Amino acid sequence: MTVFAKIIRGELPADKVFENERILVIKDIAPKAPVHLLFIPKEEVKDLQSLQDFSLVSEMVEIAQNLAKEMQIDQGYRFVSNIGPDGGQEVPHLHFHLLGGRVLGSIA
Ligand code: AMP
Repeated sequence: MTVFAKIIRGELPADKVFENERILVIKDIAPKAPVHLLFIPKEEVKDLQSLQDFSLVSEMVEIAQNLAKEMQIDQGYRFVSNIGPDGGQEVPHLHFHLLGGRVLGSIA
């Protein structure tokens, strides 16, 4: 079981920012920017490449827009999902990173 599955089940603590029936948003434990949130669907999906229910992504984008406004970083941020080991994914449970609060620069 992944660390995110344990957090969803309440078996591991997390700093929760938002939660509804399908999505959990927590603060990243090792933040790479002043704002670093993780958007985690409660459904166990390995990564974006194996996702079938695309409505999960639109729901996460809507929540990201709202949280970016609340946190006053809506002028610029990054919303990104790493896919597979080659894409830098460490936890094999679909999630998006929302990074902001500083100038992030080019991704590569
Ligand atoms: P990725 O490399 O895209 O799979 O991202 C995994 C992210 O999960 C990393 O940024 C980690 O810092 C973060 N992470 C790992 N364990 C925890 C945890 N227990 N609570 C919050 N974030 C975590």
